[in-house]
Amino acid sequence: MLKLFNVCVRMASTNKNKKSLSSKLAKQGRVIKPTSIIMKQELRDIEDLPGTASSLFSPIQTRHQRLIKKEPNVNLPAKRAAPKKDSKISKIKMGSATIIKCEVVPQSELMKDLIKVEPAAIKTELTEIKVKVEGNESPAPNEQWGEHLANIRLMRSIKPAPVDTLGCHQCADNNADEKTQRFQKLVALMLSSQTKDETTFEAMKRLKAHGCTPASIQEIPVADLEKLLHPVSFYKNKAKYLKQTSQLLLDKYAADIPDNIKELLKLPGVGPKMAHICMASAWQQITGIGVDTHVHRISNRLNWVKKPTKEPEQTRIQLESWLPHSLWAEVNHLLVGFGQTICTPVKPNCAECLNRYICPSSTAKKN
Ligand code: SF4
Repeated sequence: MLKLFNVCVRMASTNKNKKSLSSKLAKQGRVIKPTSIIMKQELRDIEDLPGTASSLFSPIQTRHQRLIKKEPNVNLPAKRAAPKKDSKISKIKMGSATIIKCEVVPQSELMKDLIKVEPAAIKTELTEIKVKVEGNESPAPNEQWGEHLANIRLMRSIKPAPVDTLGCHQCADNNADEKTQRFQKLVALMLSSQTKDETTFEAMKRLKAHGCTPASIQEIPVADLEKLLHPVSFYKNKAKYLKQTSQLLLDKYAADIPDNIKELLKLPGVGPKMAHICMASAWQQITGIGVDTHVHRISNRLNWVKKPTKEPEQTRIQLESWLPHSLWAEVNHLLVGFGQTICTPVKPNCAECLNRYICPSSTAKKN
């Protein structure tokens, strides 16, 4: 176990001889499962770790760092502290204020946990989830997907993303009646295509101030609607689609939105990604994975698809063939935020990513 701790410390350091603990464990069918995060400012070295955690580490790294900084070796234990005989380990990034506690578990156990977890992203909104029977999925294209996902969950919990506060699910007026809220969720999704969350959120604020119901959208002249939507991308097309959709909803659905994927897809300007996310957030039904540009790109970078895909729709079909249904609701929100903050389209921040040693597209130095 001592060996494991040393490797773990080196993994987070700049030591040229570092090895990937993740890959070593993966070969043994085991994985690192992050269990909690301790935030601590001004962390000087390993001995600053609170509680018993410090006794889990060898002081080698600290000595090495102090030597580099030409600091005296004060207060070092005469002997290396013996690690406890349990499976808890901790990982620390020197110079960072973030400490992550982990434990080593068999891979099969991690998978069980992942599938059991409630969809965190929209759990407050979900009252009923239609669950398909688990266990009929194809094998995953990348067997380390569970570890990828656990790491992404952890990174998302540390680093907030625009989608958390400005995403489409935050755009509806909570004081409006349910029908209006459903309509506003759909409108936000229609505006969000190829548009930043901040821009969509602001446009929705202007629309709601004007009145955002199918009837009020019908009353407003198209030129004024365009002005309200600008600078949302393709705002002229989106204004046209909004007008057409509002009219259809008034004529066929009593000013509500359809409650099934087939009819949602018939609305002008509504594609599969929007329709599946809309079914989850407006009707609390999980009908498919919402695959946008972030989910598409990250799934390809992590080899979560059997063959590289060109279109988000191809990615959706591949993901749905193997990803357990209980994770479908969560994956869009999780990956969108991860794509906004770390695994960005251009120059992903691989050096900061917890998946850097197990990601096939990582640009971080391996050795
Ligand atoms: S290592 Fe890089 S490419 Fe891979 S998931 Fe992390 S940020 Fe994305």
